Amino acid sequence: MPGGANLNNSRHPLRLNVGFLLNKNVGYGRNFDFDHASLRVGEDVEVTDLRGFIHLTRTAQGLYAQGRLQARINLDCVRCLTAFDQLLTVDLGDMFHYPPSRADDLSMSIPEDGILDFNPLVREYLLLDIPIQPLCKQDCKGLCDVCGGNLNETVCDHGPDEIDPRFEALKELLSKSEK
Ligand SMILES: [Zn+2]
Ligand SMILES: [Zn+2]
Repeated sequence: MPGGANLNNSRHPLRLNVGFLLNKNVGYGRNFDFDHASLRVGEDVEVTDLRGFIHLTRTAQGLYAQGRLQARINLDCVRCLTAFDQLLTVDLGDMFHYPPSRADDLSMSIPEDGILDFNPLVREYLLLDIPIQPLCKQDCKGLCDVCGGNLNETVCDHGPDEIDPRFEALKELLSKSEK
């Protein structure tokens, strides 16, 4: 690798060769930049526009990873059911131990070959940042209960003031039971 300029593995961009860092003095740091149009993180997470950096610093215990990555993931809006791209942010601040010991969490250890794979960690952070109730936009109007039209795009005659006939019947029942 000439000058160590291209340490990123293009097929596995989140897998970094950090062996050279382990030979450096405590306090030495190195920045890794990421910019990928599309990427599969782990087995199951497909993202686009992954951008950001991971800064690795040699410490007495191993390598400290500090970084920020952003990526887009395609989700379905819970209100209007339309697919949209959600921006996800990964904020890293994690210690990777070297040499790996049996006591350490192996996923947070640097293997003997010096190849540090950020896939499991980044995948975990990406999943954590996916909203439980994804919305295409904060004020998404959703679908009309009556005709199913997407109220962000169409205007139908079924205004929110119109009472569902099923509720009308229920109201009648309730008022009868009160008497
Ligand atoms: Zn929506
Ligand atoms: Zn409608």
